[in-house]
Parts: sequence; C-alpha cells; structure tokens
Amino acid sequence: MPELPEVETVCRGLRQRALGRWITGVEILHSGVVLGATEDFTRWICGRKVSRVKRKGKVLAVELESPNGQSTHFLMMRLGMTGQITVRRRSERLEAHTHVRLLLDDGEEEIRFRDARRFGRLRVSTREELDAILAALGPDAQEMRGTEFLQAARGRRGAVKSWLLNQRVVSGLGNIYADESLYAARIHPLAQPGRLSRRTLQRLYLTVKKVLKRAIELQGTSFRDYVDIEGHAGRYRRWLNVYGRTGKPCRRCQGLIRRIIVSGRSSHYCPRCQKRPRYITLEIHPEDSGPPSRTGMRV
Ligand SMILES: [Zn+2]
Repeated sequence: MPELPEVETVCRGLRQRALGRWITGVEILHSGVVLGATEDFTRWICGRKVSRVKRKGKVLAVELESPNGQSTHFLMMRLGMTGQITVRRRSERLEAHTHVRLLLDDGEEEIRFRDARRFGRLRVSTREELDAILAALGPDAQEMRGTEFLQAARGRRGAVKSWLLNQRVVSGLGNIYADESLYAARIHPLAQPGRLSRRTLQRLYLTVKKVLKRAIELQGTSFRDYVDIEGHAGRYRRWLNVYGRTGKPCRRCQGLIRRIIVSGRSSHYCPRCQKRPRYITLEIHPEDSGPPSRTGMRV
C-alpha cells in the first residue's frame, strides 16, 4: 500500500509532468472511484490549469486554476491500496482497471488513474474542505519537528507500532516504513511510546526521517502495483530489513525475523535487535509468541 515515499514520488512526478498544463478533458470510465457527483467533478477540473501539486501524509492535492487566474478548487487523489497515477500518451494502450483519464493540453498526453482494487479515490474539494481534511491529520512524517514527536508520545500506552500508524499522530507512515523505522531504531513494536526514554524517542524520530528520505530517493517500494508517474517500479524493496522477511536472517545479528499481529496489522521485527520491553500493550494477538498479554503487564 502506498505510503509517504510512494505518494511523494507521484507528487514529484506530477510536478515534473503536469505542472502548468491545462486539463482539457475528463473521461470517467468507472465512477466508483470518484467521490461526489461526476458532473461536478468534471466541471471543476475541465478547463483548469495544474498550478500546484502538494502533499500531506498520503494525501495528494492538485491545485486547479481557472483561466482568470483564480484557484478555488483542488483535485484530491488517494492511491488507496493499488492506485496508480501515470502520465501517458493518449494513444498508448489502455491498461485494465484504468478508471479516469485527464487529457492534457492538446490531448496528446493524459493523466491516468488506474486502481485494480478500487480503494483509491479522486474528489474535487474547495480550499476549505481540503484544509479541514489536512488539519485532521497529524504533522507530515517528513516535516514534523522533534518536539512535536516527543510531545505526541507523552502518556501513550498503546503499542508504538499502532501509534506510528495513527495518521492523527503523524501522517504518512504505513506498515512498511513503520516496521523498518522501528527495526532501525531497535524498538520492539509493542513498546509503549509513553514509556520510551527521551533519547530512544529522539532516535526513533531521526530514524523515521532517515528511512523515509532513503525510500524517497529510491522512488518508494514496489511489490506489485505501485509505480511512479512514468510507470516504473520503486527500488526500495531490496533495502527492506524486516518487512516481508519473516523467517529470514536479520542483516544485523543473523537472528530470524518474526511476524506478530499488532492491532490487526502484521508487524515484522527482529527479536534480538528489538528487545521485548518490560511493559507491553493489550492490543496484541501474538501469532507465534505464546498467550496474549494484558495492558501494562510485566512480561
Ligand atoms: Zn537482529
């Protein structure tokens, strides 16, 4: 599922390929991915210029400027699980699951939205609506300050893994980069943020940024669906240390990577490098590590 590095890659791609260009036509092949009335969607996009492309967390917003230079509306794009945004020549073969085509300029090229599982969404919003949506998100994981991160951890008793995934705390992290960050910072996924030392939290904060930065440099992680604006896969996959490596040797200590379920999500970690803390959280259903523990129980 696309996370911050993948969405940032698409965002940069759109800036390169679509910024300053006019959207001259809208074709909706499957209206299920468009939120709101399709007539409104088309009306607010068609005949507008892409004047800015911005991102917060996993939300991508394209600012649309009318011919008189006013920008009152935004095209918001969420990639969901398998969403792809590419710029293609209109004559290029249309791949299955292409749901929306936005013609650019003279119509030789177009932005395509493709999504096999259809969890992604496109919608047009006003500036106020966009601001409200973005305000509900915590600071962007790439932009947040250390003080915000430390502050947010105060008193938190849930598992640090779930805490990192909570978009109201910090936006942009998903399962892959949360697992990779915890591994790099040597923190067990069930540790409680509120009980981690200031120094450990500081380390996690820096690690999150470092992991995201590297992943952005390599255009994100591709397993099956995610591609950049040109349709190329991301190259971070080979750098993954724990995600998707259950049973494989840890690259640091050669111990075996394990997988547990934290709040319904898979968590990959190295039991040797990421020591189980004295206090762990209720929201665990260990698949492979004995009976479930209770909140704050000493283990
Ligand atoms: Zn290890």
